[in-house]
Amino acid sequence: MVYYPENYLIEDEKMKPFIDSSEIINILNNTKPDKSRVREIISMSLDKKRLSMHETAVLVNTNSPDLVEEIKEGAKELKRKIYGDRIVLFAPLYIGNYCSNNCSYCGFKKNNKDIIRKTLYENELIKEVQTLENHGHKRLVLVYGEHQVYSPEFIAESVKTVYSVKEKNGEIRRVNINAAPQDIKGFETIKNAGIGTYQIFQETYHKDTYHKVHLSGMKRNFDWRLTALDRAMEAGIDDVGIGALFGLYDWRFEVLGLVRHVNHFEAVYNVGPHTISFPRIQYALDMNLDMKYIVNDYDFTKLVAILRLAVPYTGMILTAREPAELRDEILKFGVSQIDGGTNIELGGYSDENRHLQDINKEQFTINDDRPLNEIIHELLLKDHIPSFCTACYRMGRTGEHFMEFAVPGFVKKLCSPNALLTLAEYLEDYAPEETKTLGYQVIEKKLNELAENQNIRILKQKLESVKNGERDQYF
Ligand code: SAM
Ligand code: SF4
Repeated sequence: MVYYPENYLIEDEKMKPFIDSSEIINILNNTKPDKSRVREIISMSLDKKRLSMHETAVLVNTNSPDLVEEIKEGAKELKRKIYGDRIVLFAPLYIGNYCSNNCSYCGFKKNNKDIIRKTLYENELIKEVQTLENHGHKRLVLVYGEHQVYSPEFIAESVKTVYSVKEKNGEIRRVNINAAPQDIKGFETIKNAGIGTYQIFQETYHKDTYHKVHLSGMKRNFDWRLTALDRAMEAGIDDVGIGALFGLYDWRFEVLGLVRHVNHFEAVYNVGPHTISFPRIQYALDMNLDMKYIVNDYDFTKLVAILRLAVPYTGMILTAREPAELRDEILKFGVSQIDGGTNIELGGYSDENRHLQDINKEQFTINDDRPLNEIIHELLLKDHIPSFCTACYRMGRTGEHFMEFAVPGFVKKLCSPNALLTLAEYLEDYAPEETKTLGYQVIEKKLNELAENQNIRILKQKLESVKNGERDQYF
């Protein structure tokens, strides 16, 4: 039993369902925002305090445009204060789209006869990874449909194959997974392949809606999915990612569902999730959905800012489902990771004949298909540091987001230098001249800002060594 803010008693148990819809609805219906309370809650978050469900509900129920601006400003300040200006880049790599479920929002659903089904086996997978490495990627998330073909052993094998591909100076240093829930033994098999984060999105925390949109297959079992990441933790995967698919039910409910999930992890494992994702419904072939809960851009931006404030220590992922302009805007409110140069077609990265998105081959439509270099160039223009850092994970510093948050000076001492080192690698190996020049200008500027850093002398030496051809330099 753990006591939480407001003496709120939580009796969570490992691998036991923890969502009670009426509890969430009660909190939402009985929370009234007033100016001073909203400000008090924002400042609690800026003092690095994780918000309770009641406190989060106050922000969720805030509708006055001025106060919503203050929430967004708070999220911006929290990001600046704790995380600095780094943005970690990754790419999704779809491995297979066979699926035995019927999720009404997804193009891969079993009953969709128009989708072209494919699984990447060894040679095709290697080709995809080579292409991604030639673009400069170092971090991937492998994505799988839910199907008996994609067994834990199959997933583990594909992870090993990805790590084995070394193209020129390129290599993949961190492989994350987005795949079906497993039993504990299955998670162990996958963990042993050396994965980073295992992501599973609950899609909706509202049980009735969950049953309405998951029509058949294993995924229809709400509790099996809800407790999946507990089993992952039991199997020793201590980096797990949660998420909700916004647009299935009321976004306010889903935000509280996510916070409730965080509560659960803190209560039973004493550690929160590594990342939170907030995918928003996009068009998919054969999609069959009630559009009543589609989230508009204003509410979407607001909910990202609220999530940042509610769980200040966790990484937040914003994907290419969203259009470029909106992504640039939302980045400010606390996002720490984005995908770049994204292609979600099976085998799409290495397909030289592919020019346009083909909905017959994709799970859904993406709205930001800028090449990785364009994204990096624009991040640099806006004074962000594009980062491919994987240092913590490889130094055994798991839970780095928590350290970034909890250890004073951690970002300045380790994260920013490591981000600059991976940026320099990218500039040397993959960037066009114009981006390289801009990138080194940004590096110089950031070095000046880090002048007091105790690692500055070694950092400058390491940067020189990258220019001289050394790779994989980190603290
Ligand atoms: N099949 C596994 C599963 O369902 O968990 C693995 C990943 S699924 C391919 C990845 C995620 O894509 C889902 O969890 C869901 O949140 C999201 N997704 C599915 N259909 C979508 C759509 N039409 N628009 C946006 N995101 C979607
Ligand atoms: Fe299958 Fe996942 Fe799509 Fe559902 S969301 S149909 S489980 S691939």
